[in-house]
Amino acid sequence: MSNDCLFCRIAAGEIPSEIVAEGEGWLAFRDIQPQAPVHLLVIPREHVESAAELDSVPALGGELLQAVARVATQEGLHDEGFRVVTNVGERAGQSVMHLHFHVLGGRRMHWPPG
Ligand code: 5GP
Ligand code: ZN
Repeated sequence: MSNDCLFCRIAAGEIPSEIVAEGEGWLAFRDIQPQAPVHLLVIPREHVESAAELDSVPALGGELLQAVARVATQEGLHDEGFRVVTNVGERAGQSVMHLHFHVLGGRRMHWPPG
């Protein structure tokens, strides 16, 4: 756990968040600035900087994607569809340097994302 990492502090319960689901190695909570009617963040409990590091963390990527599928179903998005996004690095729009998958749904999505 890193004291100066916002999502480590959310995972530790030090900063309040609206948690919608959690598992042994992950939790899912609502984004504070939602970009769609449903906007969740799925994060590992352990500090991993971004998806670029997943190659060196055995099994975590699979566990997190399974969590994404679970929370999407729980939020009623299974049939209507949803988008999963993870920004990697500042240049790609990552503002919190703790791995997170955005799960967005409840509206039509557009492509390319820009
Ligand atoms: P990124 O820009 O790194 O891809 O995504 C970070 C996300 O974290 C943003 O969508 C932002 O709204 C969200 N966020 C930033 N601070 C907080 C917070 O304190 N609580 C919650 N629930 N979400 C946050
Ligand atoms: Zn962290």
